[in-house]
Amino acid sequence: MKTGSCLCGEVRFELRGPLDGVIACHCTQCRKQTGHHWASTHTADADLHFAADSTLRWYRASDTARRGFCGRCGSTLFWKRDGDTTTSVCVGAIDGPSGLELAGHIFVADKGDYYPIAGGEYRRDGY
Ligand SMILES: [Zn+2]
Ligand SMILES: [Zn+2]
Repeated sequence: MKTGSCLCGEVRFELRGPLDGVIACHCTQCRKQTGHHWASTHTADADLHFAADSTLRWYRASDTARRGFCGRCGSTLFWKRDGDTTTSVCVGAIDGPSGLELAGHIFVADKGDYYPIAGGEYRRDGY
């Protein structure tokens, strides 16, 4: 099991199930929200348990998805598509080593112009 938290610690959660490889999303929304690019793993909702979530806020970012963040410290934490039974979890929020590896890049056509994508991971223009 892994634990995760926001910067101020008011949002704390447990990831009790398997986690898949890290996806970097370079879309404009992710770049706006994070200041760089998004990097997340995914958990089944049944395996996501909150120890504290009083400051967790959800921003309706589009007609199809919401973005979870801490309303106190501003940490980006989650992305969730309507109707999905999984939640994307920002890898940076995981406490200690994640034990995960970068698997791929999505929305690469929207990436910032100031950094290369240099690794051998897969690259997609969409999801
Ligand atoms: Zn916080
Ligand atoms: Zn994105």
